Amino acid sequence: MGRLQDQVALITGAAGGIGRATALRFAAEGAKLVLTDIDDTEGAQTLQQVQAVGAEVIYVHADVSRGEDCQAMVAAAETAFDGLHILFNNAGIMHPEDGDAMSTEEHIWDLTMAINLRGVYLGCKYGIPLMLKSGGGSIINTASFVALMGAATPQLAYTASKGGVLAMTRELAVIHARQNLRCNALCPGPLHTKMLMDFLDTEQKKQRRLVHIPMGRFGLATEMADAALYLASSESSYVNGTEFVVDGGITAAYVTPAD
Ligand code: NAD
Repeated sequence: MGRLQDQVALITGAAGGIGRATALRFAAEGAKLVLTDIDDTEGAQTLQQVQAVGAEVIYVHADVSRGEDCQAMVAAAETAFDGLHILFNNAGIMHPEDGDAMSTEEHIWDLTMAINLRGVYLGCKYGIPLMLKSGGGSIINTASFVALMGAATPQLAYTASKGGVLAMTRELAVIHARQNLRCNALCPGPLHTKMLMDFLDTEQKKQRRLVHIPMGRFGLATEMADAALYLASSESSYVNGTEFVVDGGITAAYVTPAD
């Protein structure tokens, strides 16, 4: 028996990084999967990889900033698997033109909020009714360690959107606590995924970030998948409303150790 045997899990942003790694991890533990993304080419790759491990899985194109798409992805879960137990609101963007208050254009702010924050709200708005109908379950919202501490490399819209995800997660956790529905935020540290490597596009920028990580390396998408698995499974049955930090010790550090 897998740790998620016969549980239905919906993952947004499943075409790459954390989403793909988590899809594979959940599949290996017996979950039935609804994968969604806007990148249908890479989404098809994830679908194939999950099918290859023998899991029941569908892929649905869904832009999380659009209510009708979120409604449709949840409807697809109901049609295919007749329920929903795990909702991983993971899709997000880090825009290259996101900077400080002076340099960030209003449309970059709006786009970031629409995907990173409104996307989580919409996932919950349409996902929670089916989860309640299915007897409850676990919601995991991907935030970030930057929601917990300021960074000298400014990404004002991104940071604010992730702070919103944390606040929303706490409130969801409290609202639904007596309905067998838990809600936690996953706060990854800097990861070796396409998102961050595109942003830190020179060796100098990468080194600038690595200096702040006590473990001296970027995290892996598979390490986030393991954390998501814990939050999704019944092993975390008394864990609710947390900022689940998986950051190699960044938020614990005042200074990092010398080599
Ligand atoms: P990634 O870029 O590999 O994956 C993000 C996925 O979201 C992509 O597949 C992308 O196509 C999808 N996406 C983008 N806009 C979308 C939309 N409107 N609707 C649906 N899907 C959309 O990056 P990742 O590192 O796997 O990021 C996953 C989550 O982790 C994000 O929320 C990100 O903010 C968060 N995070 C990442 C890091 C990091 O260092 N990479 C750190 C902390 C938090």
